[in-house]
Amino acid sequence: MTAALTTFFTVLETLHRRTLALRLGLVTLFTICSILLTELVFACDGAKNIRLSKPVTISAQERADFQAMPPLKVLALHAPPMARYDETTQTYSGVGIDILCFITQDLGLRFELPPGRDLTVAGKLQQIKSGQADIFIPLSYSEERAEHGLFTASYYKSYYAVIAHHERQLSVNRTADLANYQVGFIQGVAFQPLLEPVVPAAQLHAYNQTTSDGLFQDVLNGTIDLAVFNQHIFTEQRYQREYFDLDIVHTLYEHPRAYSYYFSKSPQNQRIIEVFNRYLAVIDVSASKLTNAQGERHFLERYMAQREQRIFLQTAIVGAILLTLIAYLGLFRYRRMSKLLARHNTDIQQHQQALQAANEKLQTLSQTDSLTGLSNRRHFDNMLSHEYARYLRTGSPLSLLIIDIDHFKQVNDRYGHAVGDDYLQAIARALKSSLTRSTDLIARYGGEEFTCLLSNMTSEGAYNVAQRIHLAVKNLALPNPLTNSQQLTISIGMATVIVGNPNIASFFEVADTQLYKAKLLGRNQICATVIDS
Ligand code: GH3
Ligand code: MG
Ligand code: MG
Repeated sequence: MTAALTTFFTVLETLHRRTLALRLGLVTLFTICSILLTELVFACDGAKNIRLSKPVTISAQERADFQAMPPLKVLALHAPPMARYDETTQTYSGVGIDILCFITQDLGLRFELPPGRDLTVAGKLQQIKSGQADIFIPLSYSEERAEHGLFTASYYKSYYAVIAHHERQLSVNRTADLANYQVGFIQGVAFQPLLEPVVPAAQLHAYNQTTSDGLFQDVLNGTIDLAVFNQHIFTEQRYQREYFDLDIVHTLYEHPRAYSYYFSKSPQNQRIIEVFNRYLAVIDVSASKLTNAQGERHFLERYMAQREQRIFLQTAIVGAILLTLIAYLGLFRYRRMSKLLARHNTDIQQHQQALQAANEKLQTLSQTDSLTGLSNRRHFDNMLSHEYARYLRTGSPLSLLIIDIDHFKQVNDRYGHAVGDDYLQAIARALKSSLTRSTDLIARYGGEEFTCLLSNMTSEGAYNVAQRIHLAVKNLALPNPLTNSQQLTISIGMATVIVGNPNIASFFEVADTQLYKAKLLGRNQICATVIDS
């Protein structure tokens, strides 16, 4: 599960990074292209939407004159549907653009768009006034403007809208009603001279920005009650900037604004205006209006699509973050549990090992004689049963030696019990070192009596072992307190079973009888017999 989640997030992360990288790449590419192509562009393919109800007569001389003119410098303003600026393509389109393109194409008149889109309306008007630019699109007629420039005939009518916060439910039914409210507008718009006589100066707020954001923000936060603003531009901005709390509460149809081309004053422009007016008198812009209204609809559709995409992306990112968090917490918990489990396993393993060691030790202790370290009687008896069963199974000879120290009581009596113990330990070492095979077993059977079990060994071999043992003890030269001899000795009774089926007790008895015999014969000797029937 954890691995699957980790993979999922890695893929998600990669895709996300790739998308970002792709976007970043496109934006960079776009920026580079924009810098290279600094000129703003008019979408002149809209000129095909323009019709003439009657042909316009232009003389050959006129045509030649227009073609010889230097390109007209055109300034435009984002004011749909007359001129709409598209940020992505840096292109202007709209009814005003369609007509301009149509007339200039027809006349062979050239134009260019100088940079400076960010200029304020006032700044652009100043350029017309000073003759730095030739045409401004679009502009509505006012007497003051007519003093500083030349208007063509109008080609489009637009209206101003009164905009308010929809929760306020303000009542505006005509221009005069504006007098009851705090009213905002953009400094320099043609509607300004109409507002000033209606709204008291203290209630009238001019906004001197290039964008209308400040104006609408103040309506939203209640600083002012109303904004008077171009209806079409507001409709688009409402979606663009998500001003969904703002509504048009009234449209000032009683004050239509007629939009024209505004030229700088010059004899050349005077001639152009005269020809423009010839066209405007017979021009049919219905197809262009329809297309640009559709453009508005496309704009809104695109906006909605982008918004949905953004919401989807945001949801996906939040979801991915949550999933990552859950996966991380899960992983963290899983790792902690794994570590805990591993630690517990190690503890258990260590305990098991300690227990096993203790058991082994206990097992060894339960089989060992504590004084001499040889096997004890219990272990010997077990091994005797085991080897005797094997003898019965395989028929390979089995020998048993019973070894008893001669006159050992006297050792204790004369030298003390502690010395007796030392003797027992020394003799045990001697017995052990006399054996050569790992299968030979030597045990302390009790007191000063030892037993030796030699499996799979002939009676001759066993007798040799008995002799080696006898000699090894003798060579210890332990002082003997009673006998004339200076060495402590042992007696050995030996029995080898090669044929027959005596029980273990009688096998042991036979060896013990041999030991008794050795004692009787004067000790310090080996008596052996073979059970073969
Ligand atoms: P023999 O076998 O030659 O007939 O004479 P013995 O003196 O060895 O006879 P007995 O078997 O009667 O004596 C065995 C003695 O071994 C008696 C006891 O004091 C001594 N003994 C038995 N176990 C131990 C022990 O663990 N330590 C010591 N020091 N002496 C022991
Ligand atoms: Mg004894
Ligand atoms: Mg003895």
